[in-house]
Formats: sequence, structure tokens, C-alpha cells
Amino acid sequence: MKINIVFGKITEEGEFKPTPFYYDVEAKDPTILSECKNCKFLPICMGGCAAESIRKNGHPNGSGCDISKYIWKEGLKFYLACYHPRIFKETELIEILGKTPDKN
Ligand code: SF4
Repeated sequence: MKINIVFGKITEEGEFKPTPFYYDVEAKDPTILSECKNCKFLPICMGGCAAESIRKNGHPNGSGCDISKYIWKEGLKFYLACYHPRIFKETELIEILGKTPDKN
């Protein structure tokens, strides 16, 4: 499925002219989306990718959850284990955040 996503254009005068798609994405409220509202990554993810939401839901205002959920999870584990190793042990982080599924 080919998705045409254009947020807007810059005019010759340097002015940003948004498209309706821009406003659709701006209006997205992931705190009311069933998939996102109780997600631990909501504060940093804010509902994921609008293009992925179009692919999954047919519109940009749904959850755009894809591989980003696992990237957030692994990134957060990596950050906490690297910068706060006295507070967070890897086994505890896996217990708190879960294990990323194997790719197979
Ligand atoms: S990781 Fe997925 S479920 Fe969680 S907030 Fe982001 S899009 Fe929603």
C-alpha cells in the first residue's frame, strides 16, 4: 500500500502552508487510544508513527505502534543500565519493561 504523506509546503516567501493531514496529525490524542493509553512508553512515544497508523487503521489518528515499541523498550533499558547501573540491573529492567521478542 502506497501512502502519500505531505505535511505541507514552504512557499517562495518561506511561509509554511500545512495540508489537512498536518492538522489530522496535530489533533491526534494517544491518551484516548485503547492500545496506547496504558502503555508505559506513551510519554515518550505519544502514539507512534502517523504513517504506520494509516497503514494499520486507514487514518493517522490511531495507534502507530510498530517496531518503535521495541526500540523504545530496548533504548530505555540500555539507557538505564548504562547511566544508572547501581539502581537498575538488566534482569530488573527486563522484569519491569518486558523482554523484546526474538526476531524469529
Ligand atoms: S509504543 Fe505503541 S502502544 Fe505505546 S504509546 Fe507508542 S504507539 Fe502507543
